[in-house]
Amino acid sequence: MATILDGKLTSAKVKEEVAAKIAAACADGRTPPCLAVVIVGDNPASKVYVANKKKACEAVGIRSLSYELPGETSQEELLALVDRLNADAAVNGILVQLPLPGHIDEQTVIERISPAKDVDAFHPSNVGRIMLGLDGFAPCTPAGIMRLLAEYGISAAGKNCVVVGRSNIVGKPMALLLLKANGTVSVCHSKTADLASHTKQADILVVAIGRAKFITADMVADGAVIVDVGMNRVDGKLCGDVDFEPCAQKASYITPVPGGVGPMTIAMLMENTFRAWENAQR
Ligand code: NAP
Repeated sequence: MATILDGKLTSAKVKEEVAAKIAAACADGRTPPCLAVVIVGDNPASKVYVANKKKACEAVGIRSLSYELPGETSQEELLALVDRLNADAAVNGILVQLPLPGHIDEQTVIERISPAKDVDAFHPSNVGRIMLGLDGFAPCTPAGIMRLLAEYGISAAGKNCVVVGRSNIVGKPMALLLLKANGTVSVCHSKTADLASHTKQADILVVAIGRAKFITADMVADGAVIVDVGMNRVDGKLCGDVDFEPCAQKASYITPVPGGVGPMTIAMLMENTFRAWENAQR
């Protein structure tokens, strides 16, 4: 049976570290970091994510500002808010919760956020830095996965790393972070022929596709490290992209859903917001 990669425990540790750094840095009376969270419309899942992010902010000592805009908000109105937040020196991080309503072009909004306040690290300038292997913000989910692996002493160096999914927010940056960590990386997607022949080669398998229990035990190697990013609702219950029980019998390490990657994503958002604040102090 695999060892559980415990994202709940590790995220609590990361948040404690961030809280300690904020407390130390603000001991001289400086204003603590501030994250502006913008949500448009009333997507129930987005509301839960935003509430969790605000809760985490409170726990670590980050001030959070909420902007809850109606679903009919125009792109121009949203961009005007982003401009105001960009210009506001008291705001260190800006998070616009995705997805946005269909009439708003997400990429235009992402590109409007100042790269220095882009704590989600979706701006092309921050993505480019990852591509070049330079320091900067890394997207919270892949960064959280790297932190979780590190916590359990799992190195990607020299390993066959297979990422299933090539989204801009998870799959692609994940592949780049594993490459930076000296993994030998393959990226699979919906057009990959014979997916199992790739996944079976993985020492480290990261799955981010959004299909419940899609990766079955016959698709993974004995002793693999399996990271399940998927969040799917089946009969009202949350489950990942990996068929957990049978895969856990073969794997050396595995993330549960819930309690694996999800909490790490929020912890890294706290870390990125602190870093944005620190950069602004210079
Ligand atoms: P996405 O943008 O929908 O991308 C899904 C990716 O999976 C695409 O690259 C797609 O390939 C690939 N794919 C779909 N079906 C496939 C198949 N049958 N075989 C191989 N590849 C397939 O999704 P995402 O935003 O990356 O999210 C993926 C999952 O992670 C979702 O369940 C989401 O809720 C979850 N998620 C969790 C967190 C967290 O914090 N835990 C954060 C973000 C996302 P193509 O490119 O060819 O279409």
